[in-house]
Amino acid sequence: MGGIGSGKCYGKRRTKRSLKLTASDLPKLCIPQFMKQNIQDPGLYIWNGSIRLLVDNDVIILSSSEGKQLDTTYIKVNKTHCHYGGYRFFGHCPYCSKRVRDLYFHKANFACRHCFRMIYRSQNATLSTRLFLKRRKIGRWINNDEWNKPKWMRQKTFAKLREKYFDLDEQGQIADFFSLRNIQTVDKIYAKYGCALIAAELLGSQLYRF
Ligand SMILES: [Zn+2]
Repeated sequence: MGGIGSGKCYGKRRTKRSLKLTASDLPKLCIPQFMKQNIQDPGLYIWNGSIRLLVDNDVIILSSSEGKQLDTTYIKVNKTHCHYGGYRFFGHCPYCSKRVRDLYFHKANFACRHCFRMIYRSQNATLSTRLFLKRRKIGRWINNDEWNKPKWMRQKTFAKLREKYFDLDEQGQIADFFSLRNIQTVDKIYAKYGCALIAAELLGSQLYRF
């Protein structure tokens, strides 16, 4: 028992990982950027050659413009307020309803990268995933759907956790967007720009692929 090669082997997992889909292989729809464009110029968009995008209130309706490449898909969009002012759009993955910035297209499906079990080629998803899990945990405590303070929690603690929640959200976005693997760099960018979207716009809007 417990000999070499028994139990869960991390080495094996790693080789398996390399076979997985990589986000950068797939066409990506960036929700904030698309919504921004649509607000300035509402109408029908053709994306990735043959997919029609139409915004109806807070839903993006996707359909094939030719053939049966895609069943009609609805992506719910909502606005969240940026910690440091302004607002930003998020989409909800049609499969897991997770709040996401980017959705990917693969084999007639639109889904987030968590659903496609992707990893970024740089293997840097770890940090943003960690930040996401941390945020989700806090979100559960402070009931992030309704933003009501749990009865047992002190107001001060609630305010602190809420602040932390927003911080983690921005940090996660920064880590994800710039494919960062160390938290110090994330902190530095966050301290300087205070908002993932602003940092993205100022530091590397060319990285957005739409
Ligand atoms: Zn998903």
